[in-house]
Amino acid sequence: MIDFNRPYSDDNCIKHVTKALNNHYHSGDGEYTAKCRKWFEETTGCPACLMTTSGTAALEMAVLLCNIGEGDEVILPSFTFSSTANAVVRAGAKCVFIDVRPDTMNIDETKIESAITSRTKAIMCVHYAGVACEMDEIMRIAKQHDLKVIEDAAQGVMSKYHGKALGTFGDFGCYSFHETKNYSMGEGGALLVNNPADIERAEILREKGTNRSKYFRGEIAKYSWVDVGSSYLPSDILCAFLWGQLENADGLYGKRMHLWNMYYELLKPLADEGYIELPVAPEGITHNAHIFYIKTADLDGRQKLIAYLKGLDILTVFHYVPLHSAEAGLKFGRFDGEDKYTTSESERLLRLPMHYFLSDEDAAAVAKAIAGFYHDGSKE
Ligand SMILES: *Cc1c(COP(=O)(O)O)cnc(C)c1O
Repeated sequence: MIDFNRPYSDDNCIKHVTKALNNHYHSGDGEYTAKCRKWFEETTGCPACLMTTSGTAALEMAVLLCNIGEGDEVILPSFTFSSTANAVVRAGAKCVFIDVRPDTMNIDETKIESAITSRTKAIMCVHYAGVACEMDEIMRIAKQHDLKVIEDAAQGVMSKYHGKALGTFGDFGCYSFHETKNYSMGEGGALLVNNPADIERAEILREKGTNRSKYFRGEIAKYSWVDVGSSYLPSDILCAFLWGQLENADGLYGKRMHLWNMYYELLKPLADEGYIELPVAPEGITHNAHIFYIKTADLDGRQKLIAYLKGLDILTVFHYVPLHSAEAGLKFGRFDGEDKYTTSESERLLRLPMHYFLSDEDAAAVAKAIAGFYHDGSKE
């Protein structure tokens, strides 16, 4: 059986978790929370990285910190995870979905301006598969129309756009360390706060509405309830698990990239023959090999390929059902403009097994099986 994903763990992670347990400090903002925070601040150059309980929590915090509320609108792609939209809906605002670009499956920056109304407060962009959105243009539009920008960089840890880390362009960047992502806490995330003026309120929001972070730093004598907040601070035990991976961040990155490049080379002949399409990384973009996907001719072709590969014990999966056509999407949002690519392209997309423990032999077997599907005529 070739699994689609296998959660990461190694002896170094376990060593640090054991140390965290023996520290007798298991809640948030301990030694390992600080280590992770510092690592992300140093590697991304962002002024503050606050570890969170999930990528979802980071998105919710970002929306609240942008003061988005009742009657406001937020522009986002429909091809994304429910969490991106839920953060908007939970704040009482409306989702305005727009089309994606067919090459990257990211928000089509040329369709943003026509979706802006007097109620628009923010643009949320999702860096799908760890491939950057067109941030220069998105930031230009935001500046011109005085809009906030939230980057859903859940999949974009270690990715760059013209040399700058994803999550550091907008007002806020949101990372996820769910077990399916490149670096894992089981469940976890981080909020990159790019404007120093937002840091204090972000800390309060994460600490149940209290100024406990200030108290911990010795800046005040006692802490109290000062604003609205929730419990978005992860356990130091989980941060220790993540730290075990950050110590070898390049090694984990390298392994994924190796597999990604292998798939690309092995499947290129099939793409050249016109059977499938391969992912595109535009110029100036460094991705992180989070996902390797192919596109089949159509939905029917994809479903047949999934079944064929399953018959060979190879597990592949499709991705998001566009949010605007989902039950909640119909209720909480609207699609602006034409759905030229979102539905049709998402129906053709198939994700191949991609995880640290995938061997070269297995990756080669996956590519060979796909070639077999097209060459031996079983697609008919
Ligand atoms: C994984 C993911 C999330 C949610 O992250 P969690 O840590 O699972 O809450 C949000 N948006 C995108 C695009 C994701 O891939």
